[in-house]
Amino acid sequence: MKIKTYNAEKMGQSNKRVVLNMIRFYPGISRRDLAEAVGLDPSTVTKIIRDLQERGWVREVGLDGHFHPGRPAIKLEIVREVAVSFAVELTVQRICIGRGYLDNSVDGLLSFQTPQDKSVGVYFDALAQHLEAQFTNEPPDNLVSISVSVPGLVEWGSNILRSIPRMKWLDVDLEAELRSRLPWLNERKLKILTVNEAKLGLLTEMATNKKLAGMKNGIYLYIAQGVGGALLIGDELYHGSNNIAGELGHMIVSPNGTLCDCGNRGCLETYISIDSVVRAYEKRYAPLEGDFRDRFDALMEMARTKDAQVMAVLDEMADYMAIGIANLVNIYDPDFVLLGGMGFQFPDDFVESVSERVYGHLLLSLKGRLLILKGSMDVDSLTLRGATLTAMNEFVKKSFL
Ligand SMILES: [Zn+2]
Repeated sequence: MKIKTYNAEKMGQSNKRVVLNMIRFYPGISRRDLAEAVGLDPSTVTKIIRDLQERGWVREVGLDGHFHPGRPAIKLEIVREVAVSFAVELTVQRICIGRGYLDNSVDGLLSFQTPQDKSVGVYFDALAQHLEAQFTNEPPDNLVSISVSVPGLVEWGSNILRSIPRMKWLDVDLEAELRSRLPWLNERKLKILTVNEAKLGLLTEMATNKKLAGMKNGIYLYIAQGVGGALLIGDELYHGSNNIAGELGHMIVSPNGTLCDCGNRGCLETYISIDSVVRAYEKRYAPLEGDFRDRFDALMEMARTKDAQVMAVLDEMADYMAIGIANLVNIYDPDFVLLGGMGFQFPDDFVESVSERVYGHLLLSLKGRLLILKGSMDVDSLTLRGATLTAMNEFVKKSFL
């Protein structure tokens, strides 16, 4: 009997988690739609919602406009301030910090240039200084964690940065670096979560991009100053045996190519990262202004006006991108390939041209069956949304074990 009670209680907790998450991802959902979606008895849902309302986590926000037999349905939404996380995006040249909330929204964005000196101590001093200012100027009441997106190898579930080739970092303990500089992390018992930026990008797209609804297998190419990736296999993020899977950018596509930061030659990254494309343009034509992201933005702007020089550089990028993607599609046979990160800025005809080349390389033309598309949001929104999603998923999991 004891076991049965325990199980029932445990089930009750996980039902609460499911219901809360449904309201997080479908704001405005009604009790009756919820009951239908999660397959629970309407009276159970009503009980769970009452409990969540008493905790102050969920509120009613008026009636939905749909026609229903009987009474109109009351819409529900999350009280976002119940949990706050500092969402942080680390990149080589910029750091971005935002505040993420339980309803997955992010605001209060701040972005700053990283120090020239990329040594671990200097970099984390700069990050800690900005986090300290955020914390002291406007301390959030319900801060639960700091969630960090990083551009390199980090083992899933750990805060050890195994390798960030572009900064020449190996085995950096991000958690220790932050805790030693920010005593309030321990005082407030805050959790630190670190995830690879590409995995966060894919998680965000899966949660928000309607074009991917129902798709179970996908390849996500994260294009930024480096090139990362993530694999969705059977509706799950694939981590690999050592939790480091998805480094698509270091696929070697030319054995005698340019030396990559990882030590190999001719990695896909050396042809299609934004730095590589910017360098290719500058070497052939003219220097551009600003950091690499500014310079890439300028190229994309010129691509929109069909600037012949930019088009020539992009044509080469498309060739290598198509080779990399075709290799992956032949191996994984996915439903979709998503060009994420700064790929969001690619002109539509560029995506089309990459797609045509991919179809041409495949063993079986999957035209009409394989969706190749670009990401749905800019790179900062993507990673900060992803960091927030991760932080809040963890918070909900811990709250309703
Ligand atoms: Zn490489």
